[in-house]
Amino acid sequence: MGEDKFTAIIIGAGPAGSTAAYLLAREGLDVLLIEKGASPGSKNMFGGRMYSHALQQIMPDFWEEAPVERPVVREVITFITEDRSLSITCQDESWSRPPYHSFTLLRAEFDAWLAAKAEEAGAVLAYGIRVDGLLMEKGRVAGVRAGTDEMLADVVIAADGVNSIIAQQAGLRKELEPCQVATGAKEVIALPPETISQRFQVSGNGGVAQLFVGSCTKGMPGGGFLYTNKNTISLGVVVNAAALQQNQYRPVDLVEDFKAHPHIAPLIEGGEVVEYSAHLVPEAGLHMMPQLYGDGILVVGDAAGFVLNLGYQVRGMDLAIASGAAAARTIKEAKSKGDFSRQSLSCYQEYLKESFVLRDMEAYKNAPAFLENKRLFSAYPQLATSLASKMFTVDGNQPVHLLGKIIDQLKTNQVGWFQLACDAWKGGRVL
Ligand SMILES: Cc1cc2nc3c(=O)[nH]c(=O)nc-3n(C[C@H](O)[C@H](O)[C@H](O)COP(=O)(O)OP(=O)(O)OC[C@H]3O[C@@H](n4cnc5c(N)ncnc54)[C@H](O)[C@@H]3O)c2cc1C
Repeated sequence: MGEDKFTAIIIGAGPAGSTAAYLLAREGLDVLLIEKGASPGSKNMFGGRMYSHALQQIMPDFWEEAPVERPVVREVITFITEDRSLSITCQDESWSRPPYHSFTLLRAEFDAWLAAKAEEAGAVLAYGIRVDGLLMEKGRVAGVRAGTDEMLADVVIAADGVNSIIAQQAGLRKELEPCQVATGAKEVIALPPETISQRFQVSGNGGVAQLFVGSCTKGMPGGGFLYTNKNTISLGVVVNAAALQQNQYRPVDLVEDFKAHPHIAPLIEGGEVVEYSAHLVPEAGLHMMPQLYGDGILVVGDAAGFVLNLGYQVRGMDLAIASGAAAARTIKEAKSKGDFSRQSLSCYQEYLKESFVLRDMEAYKNAPAFLENKRLFSAYPQLATSLASKMFTVDGNQPVHLLGKIIDQLKTNQVGWFQLACDAWKGGRVL
């Protein structure tokens, strides 16, 4: 690596880092994008769906060239217990047409494509290199160190993901606590495209996004997910890391049990597991947000805790892309002023608000606390599935009207009316 000074060094070629690199390079600035993986995306995983709006702002009609899998045309939320399931399904034909609402995708291909776009725009992409630390000069960040190499920059972007060692070294955030993160484990299961379309009853290339709540996490806070790709299915679970530790469950076992569930097993029958991966997800929302900028440094994407898990929506990619864009805008202005001080970079926070990132994080700031409620993951899935099962059962016994069935079920599941009403009210306000 040369001795030249870059305007920006970006650590991490995930969606946040590559977006920032692409936009800065497009402006003609000298940018170095460093990725520790053997190629961009090779170390990255997620559940499986990206909402399109953020990337659409930057690269209109990106789907025409990006390696996306299927546009999601059907959303399903499923309550499951060991032997029952109850699903709510929403299909919207407008999601199958441009501008597509969201796409399933696989990170190895998508991240490599986005990093290549940054390179095409003029960024220097260096992969297979792990940044070990920051170079400091007179109390401000002045570059990065990787092994014996030292590289200088006016500004560094910490886009190094949930565990951001770089933001910690800059003194912008503390070490993660287990209660602030969840562990996600996922398998990619290969099946012929026509089998996927048949089993999920979608026509053509339509995709399905399905989230599960209940026994797939053994009652622990978290959920299951299933996304259909072109010729694979992404299937897995996400569970709060503190609960996982406390209950001594291994994510790999949870995935195995989930695969064997009567709702899931027929969907993946005959499929071949082609990939297994696990990763942390920041889940404490605004409460884990670090300081977002310092002298000569900005923090973006998961490194800044920008993930929203609401149970019915999981978002991180769109927030990562938009925060990368806000960082690029900040740096472009700082460059024109020739000032990369903390003060000069502070407009990053304003741009994040304008771009929806901080607005949405603020709007859902109370969701993480609400989602610690254990009833959501055991009593309510039990209640919902048993009630539905009773509604559909005809067995020659004395008929009971719906209200009677509900009262019965509340008693069986030891949930009071007041408790149910309170949880519904709170959930309605924060989710
Ligand atoms: C199980 C799971 C399910 C998810 N599901 C979804 C979903 O369905 N939809 C959605 O929108 N979001 C989802 N997310 C969240 C989403 O994946 C993240 O929000 C998003 O990847 C954040 O992008 P990023 O660029 O900030 O970080 P990352 O994608 O983590 O990228 C960070 C990059 O930095 C590199 N790096 C780290 N340290 C160094 C270093 N020292 N030197 C050089 N390089 C380094 C890494 O190798 C990596 O490439 C999910 C996450 C998980 C774990």
